[in-house]
Amino acid sequence: MGSFSLLSAAARRLEGKVALITGGSSGIGESTARLFSKHGAKVVIADIQDELGHSVCEELNPQSTSFIHCDVTKETDVENAVNHAVSKYGKLDIMYNNAGIFGVAKPNILDNTKAEFEQVVSVNLVGAFLGTKHAARVMIPAKKGSIINTASVCSTIGGAGPHGYTSSKHGLIGLMRNTAVELGQFGIRVNCVSPYFVATPLAKDYFKPDDDGVYRVYSNLKGEVLQPEDIAEAALYLGSDESKYVSGHNIVIDGGFTIVNPGLC
Ligand code: NAD
Repeated sequence: MGSFSLLSAAARRLEGKVALITGGSSGIGESTARLFSKHGAKVVIADIQDELGHSVCEELNPQSTSFIHCDVTKETDVENAVNHAVSKYGKLDIMYNNAGIFGVAKPNILDNTKAEFEQVVSVNLVGAFLGTKHAARVMIPAKKGSIINTASVCSTIGGAGPHGYTSSKHGLIGLMRNTAVELGQFGIRVNCVSPYFVATPLAKDYFKPDDDGVYRVYSNLKGEVLQPEDIAEAALYLGSDESKYVSGHNIVIDGGFTIVNPGLC
């Protein structure tokens, strides 16, 4: 099981919790699966990349980590993934709606097709709707739970992503706010994390230096690039009891980008 068992019980912030992470085979989801596991959670990875997901589970701990194939745009897949978590580990404490795609970057709306727009909204927003709905189905009777969505800085600003992406991420904030209000009475919290560009396969086309070899746009204010672990740490906080009174909020992790670029708002 490697170095992930090294934290003492007192230091493990998710001890006894069960988490389901969509898009957990790669990038931010994979990093979060590793961190949640390190902190004592039982983790289910739900993704369409089966081989990668299985290998992450094998590397972590096959006893406390499992993979299920799940296309978040299909309600039966999401329903099965939630049922899998409950049947395997007895409950669901943390639902992390993280699966997402960027879509084709076409700045001009006239070049965008309805099919491209719908595909991105379907994965990023409808997928999170289905995840929230089926997590709520099992969390309401338990009277507790934490639902986390990976939004983006594109959830609060314009001009930083394709139309479908920006629309879907703004939509996630609405979904999060509505469900935080509705589900709070059952002890269920709902929040978003909103990263700026993170070094993952999704953003690989954007991590290219300018002609002089310097990375400019895709760094934080210190000239660094966000790593998936930086986002996983925020998800850990929102999944843990340390955030027990935090609900309905969007934690922006952007190294100050949206503060220094008000022209994009
Ligand atoms: P990634 O490509 O490394 O991971 C995304 C995962 O989602 C992949 O494992 C992929 O197989 C999975 N996925 C895609 N479509 C799916 C579907 N229909 N059903 C189930 N799983 C599906 O990218 P990432 O950067 O880790 O992205 C994770 C989340 O972070 C996304 O919601 C993305 O929009 C968001 N985000 C990423 C960045 C960034 O710069 N990387 C910035 C802001 C927000």
